[in-house]
Amino acid sequence: MLPLLPFVYEALPSRVVFGVGSLEKLPEEIDKLGATRALVLCTPEQRAIGADIVVMLGGRSAGVFDGAVMHVPAEVAAAARDKARRVRADCCVAIGGGSTTGLAKAIALTSGLPILAIPTTYAGSEMTPIWGLTEGGVKKTGRDVLVLPKTVLYDPALTTSLPVALSVTSGINAIAHCVEALYSRDANPIVSLIAEEGIRALADALPQVVKRPDDIEARGRALYGAWLGGVSLGAVGMALHHKLCHTLGGTFNLPHAETHTVVLPHAVAYNAAAAPEAMRRIAQALGASSAAEALYDLAASLGAPVSLESLGMRREQLDHAADLAVQNPYYNPRPVTREGIRKLLDNAFEGRRPAPA
Ligand code: NAD
Repeated sequence: MLPLLPFVYEALPSRVVFGVGSLEKLPEEIDKLGATRALVLCTPEQRAIGADIVVMLGGRSAGVFDGAVMHVPAEVAAAARDKARRVRADCCVAIGGGSTTGLAKAIALTSGLPILAIPTTYAGSEMTPIWGLTEGGVKKTGRDVLVLPKTVLYDPALTTSLPVALSVTSGINAIAHCVEALYSRDANPIVSLIAEEGIRALADALPQVVKRPDDIEARGRALYGAWLGGVSLGAVGMALHHKLCHTLGGTFNLPHAETHTVVLPHAVAYNAAAAPEAMRRIAQALGASSAAEALYDLAASLGAPVSLESLGMRREQLDHAADLAVQNPYYNPRPVTREGIRKLLDNAFEGRRPAPA
């Protein structure tokens, strides 16, 4: 057994209600928050479920804002904040994925309105105090406990409609949170337990979800893993993988969950020799001997994209991406070098299976 190193652990305050049918608890959970006028947030694609929520809330609803889009553009945040003010909302109900939760966070950041989140993807934003806002093509992020949802209703029944391809990449996005938590600078024993269990739950559930997207048992396990991924992301700092995905998504407009899926095995291969205990735990959770290879195989076996090229990235963008990724030094278990990152990006671009360590 490895020696127990000193650590800091800080629990974040949030209430989680998990299980099939937990959506029905929405009105009583709004009452528990002491709120009476909830503004419902959703994407245009999820307008119908947003309308259902308004009906469920009855007199507790202050209306709906159905304009959530990826990466929280500043003008969308401004319009949603304005609506919240006009309707005198005293809380936000965010139903959807990370984009919708992100919009609720933008409102909370300037108004302090409490958030009740109802996640319908596996992105995990509902468990983090991390906000993001995009202005002039640049995404700014920050941490503020004010934006952490007060209550989260996880209802697996709401995820059966998530298309299989997005279920897989969103689930691997959650695995990525768990993976980087295991080699985070501020890793600690509790979060590592959570992270390892998150990987196990998702790796177990996703193949089942692909086979039978309406398997509520598998959907429940995947959502449980997503919750653990969100807790991991919210609790400790991330490293190379998240930095790379942020850069690729922000600068080259690559899709969020798909980019995480492609980059993860390569970021893990890059860090393998520098974080052996994390690798052991990741591999153990995947029932394999090599973390990087098993992550690649998982994505490939589930029909997910494995190359940046297939996501629309162009070869001539790789140099610029490498330059950006080494700007602003940040923590990573293995020192980040331009040459190393350029090679990593090349492997990810081509979709090569990581070589055995
Ligand atoms: P998303 O929220 O953009 O959703 C993708 C699409 O799927 C949308 O059209 C949405 O309406 C639809 N959708 C969602 N759930 C569905 C369901 N159950 N059935 C059918 N359609 C459904 O995607 P995402 O991957 O959840 O979120 C990505 C965003 O979240 C990015 O901007 C990312 O940066 C952010 N994010 C933030 C954090 C954080 O901690 N702040 C964590 C993870 C992700």
